[in-house]
Amino acid sequence: MQTGIDSKNRVIKLDNYSLSLFRECPRKYFHRIDSGLIPESSSQSLAPELLFGIAIHRAMDTLFNEQDPELACERFLDAYQPVPEDAKRTPGRGISIIEDYWERWSRENDRYDLSVSEVKFEVNIGKVPSLDGGAPYDVYYGGLIDKVLMRNDQVLLMDHKTSSWESTYLIPAYAQSQQFKGYVWAARQINPAFASCTQLIVDVLLIKPKNNDFFRSEVICNEDDLEEWREGILQTIQMMLMCKHTNTWPQFGKESCTNWNRLCPYFELCDAKKSLRRGMTESLYTTEFWDTSDR
Ligand code: SF4
Repeated sequence: MQTGIDSKNRVIKLDNYSLSLFRECPRKYFHRIDSGLIPESSSQSLAPELLFGIAIHRAMDTLFNEQDPELACERFLDAYQPVPEDAKRTPGRGISIIEDYWERWSRENDRYDLSVSEVKFEVNIGKVPSLDGGAPYDVYYGGLIDKVLMRNDQVLLMDHKTSSWESTYLIPAYAQSQQFKGYVWAARQINPAFASCTQLIVDVLLIKPKNNDFFRSEVICNEDDLEEWREGILQTIQMMLMCKHTNTWPQFGKESCTNWNRLCPYFELCDAKKSLRRGMTESLYTTEFWDTSDR
């Protein structure tokens, strides 16, 4: 699914990533999603943490489907292309994470029956009015749920997160994760068997400097929480349409420019004089629209 506003067909498709970009900084959304810009230097390579996370997810699928840690390690190694400069995410570190994870959770996992893994979804979450007098837009929200599990006849979702960021606020913050609320909302729509779902387990694999740590946190959403999530998304989309309609994409600045302690990939553009930006865009960026279809 290619994300963004399709004015011709009156359709808006978004996922958690594209929505988060807009909420971080509308200008960042404009560059990445509306214009499809990515820096020339990053067009050929995925970030090391993303490559590592993808391979770990492959191993998690094997652990849940086949309960075989050796096979999980093999599949991790098959899937992982290490980045030489990344001393933290080595193949050996990946193996130790899988082995430690199995030791920590294999008994607990017996409480769950895996219903299905890797559920890709694209659900209609409502309509928003247009600003040009035309027909309203249909809004679709897409994503990928790692696991749907059963525990005592109860449907639960699970999302695996590899992280090197440790904070006392991590667990409470998950309760407000828009991504997870969206997963629960979507799961209830895509299959009548999941319609009673209200919970998601965040399964965190924490990569500390010297050891691995694991914890799980349950996010619980009632009907009001889920409706509030949907209303919030539709409201954000109306703001997005306003930016598009007026061709004005605010720069939120400082904090957004250094989110996660990284410089925004569009900093050079924002930092340049307006008259120079077109030329800089052509020389520093290439076009690759955000499409979730092959992820
Ligand atoms: S550099 Fe800052 S203001 Fe510009 S797009 Fe990025 S986050 Fe927004």
